[in-house]
Parts: sequence; structure tokens; C-alpha cells
Amino acid sequence: MPTRPFIPPRSFRAILRRTIELTPSTKHFEWEVIEGGPFEFYAGQFVSLEVPRDGEKEARPYSIASAPRGDSKFDLCLNRVEGGYVSNYLCDTSAEAIVEVNGPHGSFVVSQPVEQDLVFIATGTGIAPIRGMLAEIFHSREELSHDVWLLFGVRHPETILYRREFEAWATDHPRFHFVPTLSRPAADWQGKTGYVQEHLRKIFAGRKDFKTYICGLKAMVDEVRFILKEEFGLDRKQIRFEKYD
Ligand SMILES: Cc1cc2nc3c(=O)[nH]c(=O)nc-3n(C[C@H](O)[C@H](O)[C@H](O)COP(=O)(O)OP(=O)(O)OC[C@H]3O[C@@H](n4cnc5c(N)ncnc54)[C@H](O)[C@@H]3O)c2cc1C
Repeated sequence: MPTRPFIPPRSFRAILRRTIELTPSTKHFEWEVIEGGPFEFYAGQFVSLEVPRDGEKEARPYSIASAPRGDSKFDLCLNRVEGGYVSNYLCDTSAEAIVEVNGPHGSFVVSQPVEQDLVFIATGTGIAPIRGMLAEIFHSREELSHDVWLLFGVRHPETILYRREFEAWATDHPRFHFVPTLSRPAADWQGKTGYVQEHLRKIFAGRKDFKTYICGLKAMVDEVRFILKEEFGLDRKQIRFEKYD
């Protein structure tokens, strides 16, 4: 259930201002709306991007990876999918390209007011909407009233997307706990290893007083939801999620 007023989606055009290669197969995109004024959305929502294909158009949903900043800009974070059309088209696109966008869509947004600890769980580019949600939390001037956790699962240390940003937030906000976990760690990795599911079980054992926001591929999201419902006994309202396939 959305807890904030509905923002009607609309169609607009956006220009690509900048890309940053986060890993060899993942890019950060910075877009600016060039028609239709400021783009209103809530952190965590997604847009549908349309690109040309054989004289037709091909659209895919992408989570907004930023919080509203009071301007017409928004970020995306995209992974190249092997054999995928739109992800490769966009990852090969250079600055100043223009795309058709429709949005915002979805209700994967942090419920207000925040009344429990927040546990964000992501794997891979599932971090995109969560980066936006965290930016919204940390850009507000209020001190955190609850603990905020980020359990982020990736394979290798160099694929911990936005790592410096999350580490900086953890330094600035003692109530923010950043827990990256690697499924294929190098020998010198000092942090957590294995899957986010295991750390969820260990860190929150015996608790059911928190709200979760989960994003990533279907298998991870389904498994984490099962654990939260069946093992922790969380209510459906405490489990919010977005699946990428
Ligand atoms: C609400 C929502 C938000 C999303 N946000 C993001 C985002 O922020 N960043 C992002 O990178 N992606 C995101 N996705 C996934 C994205 O919409 C596309 O599915 C993805 O980019 C692949 O599109 P494509 O045209 O390149 O591949 P397609 O041409 O559609 O697919 C090619 C092949 O790859 C398989 N495939 C499709 N998607 C994946 C995948 N993610 N992993 C592995 N195999 C896949 C298909 O089954 C197919 O066999 C989101 C999906 C949803 C539903």
C-alpha cells in the first residue's frame, strides 16, 4: 500500500548527461528531463525507458537510483544482460543521447512515518532503488530515529556498487550499518562472505520488529521473503520488494 500521495506517471524525454563505469558490465547513468519540467517521483520508484528497435520501440523498466533533488535529474544503474537488447543498447549509448521515458511507476518506496528499524537487502543492480531510498534518508537533515541496515550481496569486492558512498554514510551515521557480503571473496577480503540470507538470519535472530525492503533477481527476493515470513514471522506489511525478472 503506498503511504504517500500518488504521482501520476507521464511521458517525457530525457538526455543522458553522464555515465560512469562502475564495473566492466555495470554503468551509472545521469539523465536530465528536457521536456515537461521537473520530474516528480519518490525514491525507489522506477521508469520505463523506450529505445528504438527495427523501426519500432522497445521498453524496459529501470529503477531510479537517486532521490529527488528538486531538479529534473535522475540516475539509473544498469547491468549488461548477456544477449539482452535494451540493457546493451543503453550501456553502449554515449552522453547527449535522448530517450523516451514514462514514469514514475511502482510503490517500492519507504513508508512514512518510519516506525521500525529498516533493513534493506539487495543483490547486484537491485541496489539501484535502495541507493535512492538511502539518499532520501541521509539527505534529510533529521537524525536517524531508527537503525538502518544495508545487506548487499555481490560476487567480488570490485562489484560492490557505490561502495564509497555507503561507507561514507556509515561513517557519518552511526545508526547506519553497511554489510556487504561476497559470494566469491578474494583471499584478502576481511568482511562477510556467503549470501545475504545467512547474514539476515544471524544478525536479526529472534527479532521481528523491523521493516524490510528487498530488491534483486527473483530467486533471491523469493527466498528472503520466505525466510522473513516463515522463519521470522514478519507480517506482509513489513516486507516490501521489487523483483527484476
Ligand atoms: C521494476 C523493475 C526494475 C528494474 N530495474 C533495473 C535496474 O535498475 N537495473 C537493471 O540493470 N535492470 C533492471 N531491471 C531489469 C530490466 O528491466 C531488464 O529486464 C534488463 O535490463 C534486461 O533487458 P534486455 O532488453 O537487455 O534483455 P532482454 O532482451 O529482455 O532479455 C534477454 C535474455 O536475458 C534474460 N534476462 C532478462 N533480464 C535479466 C536479468 N536481469 N538477469 C539475467 N538475465 C536476464 C531474459 O530472460 C532473456 O533470456 C528491472 C526490472 C524490473 C521489472
